[in-house]
Amino acid sequence: MQRLLLCCSFFFLSLQAYAQPAALQVATRLVKPFVYEENGVLTGFSIELWQEIAKRLKIESHYAVKADVNAILAAVKSGDADLGIAAISVTAERENTLDFSQPMFDSGLQILTPVQSHRSDVIAAVIEDIFSSAMLPLLGTVIILILVPAHLVWFWERRHPAGMLVNRAYFPGIFEAFWWAASTLATQADQMPRAIWARVVAVIWMFASVIFVAYFTASVTSSLTLQQLHGDINGPADLLNKRIVSLAGSTAVDYLRQHNIPVREFEAFDDAVGAVQTGQADALVYDAPTLLYYAAHDGRGKVQVVGAIFRRENYGIVFRDRSPQLKAVNSALLQLKENGAYDLLYAKWFGDK
Ligand code: GLU
Repeated sequence: MQRLLLCCSFFFLSLQAYAQPAALQVATRLVKPFVYEENGVLTGFSIELWQEIAKRLKIESHYAVKADVNAILAAVKSGDADLGIAAISVTAERENTLDFSQPMFDSGLQILTPVQSHRSDVIAAVIEDIFSSAMLPLLGTVIILILVPAHLVWFWERRHPAGMLVNRAYFPGIFEAFWWAASTLATQADQMPRAIWARVVAVIWMFASVIFVAYFTASVTSSLTLQQLHGDINGPADLLNKRIVSLAGSTAVDYLRQHNIPVREFEAFDDAVGAVQTGQADALVYDAPTLLYYAAHDGRGKVQVVGAIFRRENYGIVFRDRSPQLKAVNSALLQLKENGAYDLLYAKWFGDK
C-alpha cells in the first residue's frame, strides 16, 4: 500500500512538472525602445516580441539585465542564459561562436549630433563660407567674366573724344574699364560709356550683373542655412578629428575602430547622449532606431540624427551554438510575421512602416 502511495505521488508530481511551462533564462539589456523599465517592469519592442513568442511556445521567462551587449553574449555563451534579446546585431564574428534567430528588426548605424552647431563666431563662419572651396571657383569665374566687358568697352570707348576712359593705352585703359565693370556689377558705377557699341556692351553687362548678384546671394545664404541646420558633421566622412562617443561593445565601436576613429565608450545610452548634449562630445555613433527614437522623444529639439544609415544591420535573438530552442523560436517568429502580429507590434513602437 505504501509503495502504491509513493508511486502515485511520484506520478502526480511528474505530471505537475510536465504541465508547468518550462522557464528560460533570458539575458537582455536596457536599450530604448527595445528594452526599458517602466514602473519596475521590463517593456519595449523586443520584450513584447519575446513575450509573444514565449506565449506561443508556452514557455516562461526569467530576465537578467546585463550592462552591455558583450555581457549578454558572454552569458549565452557560458550557458548562464538560454538566449539573449535586446537590440543585438547579427555579425559574422558573433555567428562564428553563437547562433542567431531569423532577423527580428532592420537596423544600421547612424550619427546623432546636438541641434545647434558649436560655431560661436558667426562672422568667422561667413568669411569661411565666402572663401570656402565652393565659393572660390565662383569668385574666380567672376573675375574672368569681368575681364570680358572690360576689354570690349576699352576697345570701343578709347577712341571716343568724350569717352569715360582717361587712358587709351592697354594696361591703364583696361584697368579703368575693369574698375567700371566691377562697379557696374555692384551697381555702383559713377560713369557710363559714350561710344555706341560700348553702350550696347554696358546694357548687356548690367543685365548679366543683376542675374549674377542674385545667384551669388542665393548660394551664400543657402550654404549658411545648411550649415546652421546640419552643423559640421553630416556623415561618417566628417567623423575624423571629432570627439565621438558610442556604447560599449557595440558594432558602432567596431566600425569606428576599423576606420581608425577614436571613440569614448559608455555603458548606458543616457550617459553617451548626455556627453553630446553637454558639449563634451561632438557626435554619438550608434544604432539608427535608438537614435531616431531618442531624437523624436526625450531628445526632441535638443539633438538631431544626421546623414543616412551608413552600415545596414539586422537584429536577432541570440542562442548558444546548436541550441535546442532555436528551431521552435524561429518558427514562432516567422508565424508572427506572417499573421500580422509583428506588424502591429512594429506600428505600436515605431509607427507604420
Ligand atoms: N546593436 C548593437 C550591437 O549589437 C548595439 C547593442 C547594444 O548596445 O545593446 O552591437
